[in-house]
Amino acid sequence: MTGILDQDIMYLPGVGPKRKDILSKELNIATWRDLLECYPYKYVDRSKIYHINELNGAMPFVQIKGRILSFEEFAMGARRKRIVAHFSDGHGVVDLVWFRGTQYIYKTYKVGIEYIVFGKPTVYGGRYQFAHPEIEKTEDLQLSEMGMQPYYSTTEKMKNCGMTSRAIEKITKTLIAKIPEGSLPETLPPFITVPLHLLGRENAFRDIHYPKSIGELQHAQLRLKFEELFYVQLNILRYASDHRRKYRGYIFQHVGSNFNYFYKNNLKFELTGAQKRVMHEIRADMAGGRQMNRLLQGDVGSGKTLVALLSMLIAIDNNFQTCIMAPTEILAEQHFNTIKEFLAGMDIRVELLTGIVKGKKRKNVLEGLVNGDVKILIGTHAVIEDTVQFAHLGLAIVDEQHRFGVAQRARLWAKSENPPHMLVMTATPIPRTLAMTIYGDLDVSVIDELPPGRKPIITTHKFDTQMTSLYSGIRQQINQGRQVYIVFPLIKENEKTDLKNLENGYESLKEIFPEFNISKVHGKMKSKEKEEEMRKFVNGNTQILVATTVIEVGVNVPNASVMVILDAQRFGLSQLHQLRGRVGRGAKQSFCILVTSYKLSEETRKRIDIMCDTNDGFRIAEADLKLRGPGDLEGTQQSGIAFDLKIADIARDGQIVQMARDEAQKIIDNDPTCEKVEYKMLWNRLKELRKTNVNWAAIS
Ligand code: ADP
Ligand code: MG
Repeated sequence: MTGILDQDIMYLPGVGPKRKDILSKELNIATWRDLLECYPYKYVDRSKIYHINELNGAMPFVQIKGRILSFEEFAMGARRKRIVAHFSDGHGVVDLVWFRGTQYIYKTYKVGIEYIVFGKPTVYGGRYQFAHPEIEKTEDLQLSEMGMQPYYSTTEKMKNCGMTSRAIEKITKTLIAKIPEGSLPETLPPFITVPLHLLGRENAFRDIHYPKSIGELQHAQLRLKFEELFYVQLNILRYASDHRRKYRGYIFQHVGSNFNYFYKNNLKFELTGAQKRVMHEIRADMAGGRQMNRLLQGDVGSGKTLVALLSMLIAIDNNFQTCIMAPTEILAEQHFNTIKEFLAGMDIRVELLTGIVKGKKRKNVLEGLVNGDVKILIGTHAVIEDTVQFAHLGLAIVDEQHRFGVAQRARLWAKSENPPHMLVMTATPIPRTLAMTIYGDLDVSVIDELPPGRKPIITTHKFDTQMTSLYSGIRQQINQGRQVYIVFPLIKENEKTDLKNLENGYESLKEIFPEFNISKVHGKMKSKEKEEEMRKFVNGNTQILVATTVIEVGVNVPNASVMVILDAQRFGLSQLHQLRGRVGRGAKQSFCILVTSYKLSEETRKRIDIMCDTNDGFRIAEADLKLRGPGDLEGTQQSGIAFDLKIADIARDGQIVQMARDEAQKIIDNDPTCEKVEYKMLWNRLKELRKTNVNWAAIS
């Protein structure tokens, strides 16, 4: 169905072929709808006009109304000059200043005409000045009715052709005037909008572009954000419910001899309350007849591996095979060793499958999988290769989800007649509202308690001028028998310089600590060499490990008590938290030292402060989301889910996400098979969105 909004943007008065070209190239705007949905990124309250004698230097952007008295030019060196317009409103005089664009200024602004000047006042030479202010004729300004002025994103190219924010404001205004009242179809039914007091769609569109007050703006934003998030949630929940109906889950009815033997004889400690709770949730899922799709969130060191193992034992007790997929060889190997150790004395065949398992050994493992002999397979991506076939895969566990794409998760499903139960473990906690959106089809379990006896890690910030005291602290710890990580940043763009830094750092550390042995690990090393160096540290043969973030994930050396992170400003929050999680795993007090230079950006300051302030992974994840936005969040990029949200912001609009989720859940519960007439409009709209929007349905 094509409507008024499907019209070509070219045919909107004030656009034409040339501007259409720019709009479509720069902002992807091709139709009236595209323009209508191109929302302002900010609004400035222009309802107040100040008198010049009211100004003070602490004010943000303000506007004044008056006339230019005269122009004056000042030379700035040989070729450049400064143009000053003396501007008065009858209450005082300010200077409007430009450092370029002489021709344009003389051509555009005239002495004696009434202008509204908008800018930030600063004091210069005893007088207020506005540098490069926005200036408009008072008569033109009736345009935005002097209320909230919208600001639209533009690009450099657009500005060069006069397509400023103002120009977009004008054509948007034209567009809205062209839409006859009542011609835009409503996309939410009254049984949703009325109880929630949501604005009608058409009014929301009008007010989002031209709010007369902050209140109006907030109403419009709520309506549009809600709508966007509601359909995202409806789609996710609908998908999950379809999936549940289509696939049956294997039923693991009993807890048998393996589980019980392990629990009685091999498990040396009591489960934490959180571990017990999560085990209940997992057991209920696996016995319930529907396929488990569960996300297990737990901070580093919270004991996820043990939960994984207990779940696997239940699967094995029900004659199924299991696998764990880890993101790196080191981690897979470590899981392998941990689990072998846990299962000592039990008759359960555990095998490791990574890229380095080759030839006869590999053949042997693959055969064991096909004939059902191997009960636990632990590996890297190698696990999802086509050559890997199971007799009876009942439970698949993915560790450190953020390294795996959603597509890979799906490949695991295909390894079995019915999809196996899935447990996805992550140590990068995802705030609830984000989890609801990107892992909306997963149920979430949380381990929010560390095993007893752990001492919280003490985190401090040091400047790189304080290295001497840092080194003596390190020496002290090592002399007490501890081990130390020293992490260098390594990012792809300046890999070469970074590696050189690490090499140099390594050499100078050898000079500073001649009495200690030092290991060195980075991603460019051959994996065999890397493993060897790691192993020396794991076995305690070296006291210091110099490394890049290759150690970020999973490595477990309880004796290591100090984590030094150099150039800490170059790491993201969740990365810092992961790295810190490498220490604090033993009974001794551990330390994390973040080293930076003196010059820090505001954002870096915040990151460092949060790290020093808390060990709580959830708080850190929330903060990370707020600082960086969800698009940047580790894991969301790799998960293959584009955030095609035009107005909602998952980081800030958590409450609206929850509202949308609740409403969508009600609909799905009332009409799981999408047949009810009263919901027809919703299902149709969803279909429409699936066609034009992100392919949410293909996700998971
Ligand atoms: P995660 O994978 O969540 O980062 P791990 O599973 O590696 O954490 O557990 C960290 C350490 O804590 C391991 O040495 C593990 O054996 C130990 N551990 C796990 N659960 C408990 C518990 N309930 N009590 C004591 N120690 C535990
Ligand atoms: Mg782990």
